Amino acid sequence: MASLEMIVADIAAEMADAPDRGTVADYIPGLAEIDSGRFGIAVIEADGTCHKAGDADEPFSIQSISKVFSLTLALGAIGDRLWDRVGREPSGSAFNSIVQLETESGIPRNPFINAGAIVVADMILGAHEPIEAIGEILRFVRSLADDDSIFIDERIARAEQETGFRNIALANYMRAFGNLRQPVERTLGVYFHQCALAMSCHQLARAGGYLMAGGINPATGHSIVSTQRARRINALMMTCGHYDGSGEFAFRVGLPGKSGVGGGILAIAPGKASIAVWSPGLNPRGTSQLGALALERLVQRTGWSVFEPSGG
Ligand code: GLN
Repeated sequence: MASLEMIVADIAAEMADAPDRGTVADYIPGLAEIDSGRFGIAVIEADGTCHKAGDADEPFSIQSISKVFSLTLALGAIGDRLWDRVGREPSGSAFNSIVQLETESGIPRNPFINAGAIVVADMILGAHEPIEAIGEILRFVRSLADDDSIFIDERIARAEQETGFRNIALANYMRAFGNLRQPVERTLGVYFHQCALAMSCHQLARAGGYLMAGGINPATGHSIVSTQRARRINALMMTCGHYDGSGEFAFRVGLPGKSGVGGGILAIAPGKASIAVWSPGLNPRGTSQLGALALERLVQRTGWSVFEPSGG
């Protein structure tokens, strides 16, 4: 088998020439202006070896990938009581859909659709000021990646706020059911800022290390979550990480993953690697077109799918 270094370089070269690059999100200028020609990949192995290619050090808007980190933080703060207010089933609906909330009494299907992530943001906010909750999320992600240069892009956060009518509707709807405890504008302030986190593939792959290594940050040896909790977060990423495209992603890639409309995907090969890819063009479900293709090729060449007899 070719070395992992070569596999990563080959995939980046293949993606550079790929003709079908998907469609860049255009609901805010900060995303719409990104060149669809960009592609980056970073793979960090269990022993810490890092392989990078393309635009792996270029920060981009991580958007919904932040939901993995906010879920981890909220579980740490309130534990499994979180599941009283958020479900654990795939929704089969778009990331910003409202339809199921009416019949399901304002309890979102899972923490990775927008409604679920807004409830999680409400839990992190609790009795704090939004600026403190936002600072807590930023500090958490910086410590996971061991990199204090990670920042929140205020321009993106502001634009999310100005155009976030659906998210505002979701929040108000859940508040009417009593499943949002804080004023909606405060909770959404937290949610919009976490979506505006800017990180590179390299930083993201480092931040995801604890999910590869049974809850331990492999770079520092610090326990972030229990092994059971890491396994469960991975399970949710596999079943819900790409909304109504989660089945397709499991079928093609076979790894827990979380996408964002900025074009990033964090994927975890448990025990093997933490992987981040970025290409801004999206498929119709809001997952990076080339990011998913790159991950598909990576698992084909490494055998890392959790469904391979030797994988997982
Ligand atoms: N900021 C986006 C939203 O709330 C995040 C969605 C996503 O990345 N899927 O609509």
